[in-house]
Amino acid sequence: MQGIVIKSTGSWYNVMVEPTLAVIPCRIKGKLRLKGIKHTNPVTVGDTVIFEMEPGQETGVIQEVKERTNHLIRKANNLSKQTHLIAANIDLAMLIVTPAFPKTSLGFIDRFLVSAEAYHIPAVLVFNKIDLFTGNAQELLDDVIKLYENVGYTCLKTSVTQQIGLDAVKQMLTNKKTIISGHSGVGKSTLINAIAPGLQLKTSAISDYSLKGKHTTTFAEMHKLPFGGYIIDTPGIREFGLVDFEPTEISHYFKEMQPLIGQCKYNNCKHVNEPDCAVLKAVETGSVTQERYYSYLSILNNNNIYE
Ligand code: GDP
Ligand code: ZN
Repeated sequence: MQGIVIKSTGSWYNVMVEPTLAVIPCRIKGKLRLKGIKHTNPVTVGDTVIFEMEPGQETGVIQEVKERTNHLIRKANNLSKQTHLIAANIDLAMLIVTPAFPKTSLGFIDRFLVSAEAYHIPAVLVFNKIDLFTGNAQELLDDVIKLYENVGYTCLKTSVTQQIGLDAVKQMLTNKKTIISGHSGVGKSTLINAIAPGLQLKTSAISDYSLKGKHTTTFAEMHKLPFGGYIIDTPGIREFGLVDFEPTEISHYFKEMQPLIGQCKYNNCKHVNEPDCAVLKAVETGSVTQERYYSYLSILNNNNIYE
């Protein structure tokens, strides 16, 4: 039988079988464990797996993991070289943002977008709570949206309270596996509950360091959408699996800088103060905005922008 892993709890995997949506708890064959040696977990949420029912049982054994189109990872812990698979086969990364109440900084947005580019996952920005933005605030909101549209990202405007833009979000999610992120308080649960009522969305962190500095791990969960598709809810980019970038690689993940890279004098140009740098020239002429360039420098300097 074939199904999609929607939840893992360490040694058990919940596998959903379409079209009945039956959920079968499965274990994995020992052989698969060996395969996943560089990851702490060989199977993850979003994986398509082949499994067999255990004779006379309601449970199954996973025999095979189908080839992944992509996978999100994070370091298992600070000391280990091993990585933890967060999710696989993600079609879309959706960031819910609010320019205020609470504020999502441009730096945070750019980190998210850069991570998505690094994973080759299309990203979309949803600006929620637009009912709260009038007058000057609305102009500022539209400026931010214009900034990201000019770079090439789809931006949606929503208000859950006024039922604006919800169909567009629904359409965007239909028949895809989407990872949804955003600061606490931007309205993720409210938005998801509005388009998929009854879906019990947990917005708690899927991984965090406890106060004692010990790494505790809970696992991401995928939710089936009633109109087709799946979503994984994650609270922030830490869970999105921010990769450690090589300094010269970062500009590749800024959509508007990418085509310029070959035009720099030095092929290992970091676009900071090198002569004949195509990115610096583009910042001067404005085709790369100050805002995005500032985020670029910030990531290059490895500043943690988690807020
Ligand atoms: P989450 O932490 O991202 O899941 O955020 P919640 O869904 O818990 O929402 C946080 C607060 O924002 C709640 O009080 C919601 O009622 C409110 N909220 C959500 N969407 C909107 C919106 O479109 N407009 C306004 N004004 N408030 C909203
Ligand atoms: Zn350069």
